Amino acid sequence: MQTSRSNRTRVCVPVCEKDLAALQNSCERAAEWADLIELRLDCLKDLPDDAVRVLNNFSRPVILTFRPTEQGGHRDSSRAERQAFWTSVAPHVKADWWDVEGDLVAELSLNSPRLIVSHHDFTGVPEDLEQIYERLASARAAVVKIAVQANDITDCLAVFHLLDLARSEGRELIAIAMGNAGIATRILGPSRGSFLTYGALDDDSATAPGQVNAPKLRSLYHVDGIDRETMICGLVGLPVMHSVSPHVHNAAFVAEEINGVYLPFEVRDAKEFFRRMVHPRSRELNWNLRGLSITAPHKQTVMECLDWIDPKAEEIGAVNTVVVDQDRLFGYNTDADGFIDPLLHRFKSLRDARVAIVGAGGAARAAMYALRKQRARVTLFARDIMKAQPVAEFFEVSCESISGASFDGYDFVVNATPLGSGGHIDQSPLTVEQLNGVWCVYDLIYNPRETRLMREAHAVGCKTLGGLEMLIAQAKLQFELWTGKKPSAGAMEHALRNVL
Ligand code: NAP
Repeated sequence: MQTSRSNRTRVCVPVCEKDLAALQNSCERAAEWADLIELRLDCLKDLPDDAVRVLNNFSRPVILTFRPTEQGGHRDSSRAERQAFWTSVAPHVKADWWDVEGDLVAELSLNSPRLIVSHHDFTGVPEDLEQIYERLASARAAVVKIAVQANDITDCLAVFHLLDLARSEGRELIAIAMGNAGIATRILGPSRGSFLTYGALDDDSATAPGQVNAPKLRSLYHVDGIDRETMICGLVGLPVMHSVSPHVHNAAFVAEEINGVYLPFEVRDAKEFFRRMVHPRSRELNWNLRGLSITAPHKQTVMECLDWIDPKAEEIGAVNTVVVDQDRLFGYNTDADGFIDPLLHRFKSLRDARVAIVGAGGAARAAMYALRKQRARVTLFARDIMKAQPVAEFFEVSCESISGASFDGYDFVVNATPLGSGGHIDQSPLTVEQLNGVWCVYDLIYNPRETRLMREAHAVGCKTLGGLEMLIAQAKLQFELWTGKKPSAGAMEHALRNVL
């Protein structure tokens, strides 16, 4: 479903197909999500004579593009071929805009419709970015387009600054940081003045690195509703693109009628990200950042970047939630409460319950903290006992090696390893034999909903509980910390139904 398009956000869907029939078909599909269609004629294997006739019937304004390979196109065309295209072929296509590369535009005498003059850099952010922008702007451009590769999330800063500059000069600019680290520029760009943002037709049709698909731009990130007042939240980690958290939190923003958006922030160096983009006293970006979820591998590192840490998070030794309040940063941990919540819903008391926690990372620490508070009897099981021993000692629980261990007689076995998800989807941390005599397996993995461990546990008669309830419980607490509102779990669950 499309949301209402209230502000001036424009989503342009590039259509890049090898033959005319596919091109026409994709243009029709694109029209559902697009304000404009970018006709990428460099993708066509050849330009047949009837192309012009076929290419004159669009239900959306069209940007005509003929990109050479070195600027991210699909055609290894010579300069002469490019010139011939713009002077002989393009004038016969009914387009509203031509997007011509800056290196070519000066030497063409074009009788064009409105002109987008573009520059692409697939290696990084050039040092002379502003000079490039000035040069393109002086080339009779109605709109300047600059797309650079973000090798780090802080590369977004140069793009946002360029948008501020163009806005202050009253010039139209499309500025994009490509790659996963640049996604914030694609989602927030229009609210900061970008003339448009590009959205792929679907996940398989992206024409540039990091291009979010148009249905997601509109129905997950609600780009049409984002403005300068929008409260910005996001997930900091590496990797983050697989995360379902944007579905959970963006659904809650809609359900609670809060002008907010939640984005994935792919961050390699958390300290630099916090210094240059997050901390209100040092950041180089004026944006309405309110809250962050923190995931692996940054839950410990970010603790050094905060002004205040909740004693519970301090004791767990990990922060998974950050609140930006005026000029200070506050850190919390919602994993512990999120972990215990589904258990307390089912069992009156966990006192003296025998619990085995498998894995000794961040989730295990939160689980141990919560279970110790409930006075459960906890044992930590790890593959590397030397590494896990200090963790176990910190939480005053015993520690054993997983291999060869017996779990017979345990009330709960908690999987706090990644085995069963992602690249480990077919794996389980326990053998089927080790499941004998276990009463309930609680797998913290939520994607897939049912892991191999859960299937095998079920088959030998154990009760099972997956990680989805924990995900929602901890997300609800995060949302409340950022907004002061208790979100309904229903909206969050509903959003996940489509993706899990
Ligand atoms: P983490 O900090 O990276 O810790 C992972 C732990 O698993 C480490 O102790 C690691 O051992 C161990 N491990 C990894 N591969 C293993 C293997 N092949 N055999 C045995 N142990 C192995 O990760 P985390 O943040 O704790 O997350 C763990 C899992 O919980 C993830 O799947 C995550 O998605 C899930 N989780 C779910 C929720 C939720 O809301 N449902 C919340 C948080 C986490 P080494 O130290 O030896 O590498």
